[in-house]
Order: sequence, then C-alpha cells, then structure tokens
Amino acid sequence: MSFDTQTLEIREIILDRIANILQDVYQEPVLELTEESIIAKLAFKGDPQLNELRLALDRIRRGEYGRCIFCKCSIDGELLRRSPTTHFCSRCANILRYRTSGVQS
Ligand SMILES: [Zn+2]
Repeated sequence: MSFDTQTLEIREIILDRIANILQDVYQEPVLELTEESIIAKLAFKGDPQLNELRLALDRIRRGEYGRCIFCKCSIDGELLRRSPTTHFCSRCANILRYRTSGVQS
C-alpha cells in the first residue's frame, strides 16, 4: 500500500491529534505513534471526536480519503491539514453553510 506525500502528512496529523486527545482527556500516554497502537487505544472510548479521526484513518486505508462526498472532487490540501476530518471540499462546505444558516435566497 502506498500513499502520496500529502496523505502521509495528514495521516501523521490525525495520529498526532488522537494522541493529544488520549493524553489530555483520558490521561493515557501514547508511547508509540503508530496507527496500530493508537487504534487499539481507541476501542470502547465512544468519543465522537476520536471516532471522527478514526474514520478518517479508515478512509485513508481504503484509499478514499480527501474526496468530497458531494461532488467527488479532491479536497484542498490546506483544508485537510487544518481540518483532517472534513468530508467536503470548500465549495460544497460553503453551500452547506449557506443552506444551514437559514438564509433564504
Ligand atoms: Zn464538493
């Protein structure tokens, strides 16, 4: 299995975020920053934020990461770095924000 550099970088960001949550919220020190050891620690946590991050790792493993679930185009790398669990490209996110803001056209 091989990933492009950007995906690998974002995978590190996600693992890092999970490790931070585990340490700060659950006082569980993460000694090994590998996907296997981190996923093992996530079992039975039921934390929505951790769950989102775990799902993002799943998408990376399946090669589905970084595509917008609406328009299927690639999501901007900067956006993914800022918000690695995002499912939408910035265009669709704007449309969604507009729709849910209650503004009538
Ligand atoms: Zn989109």
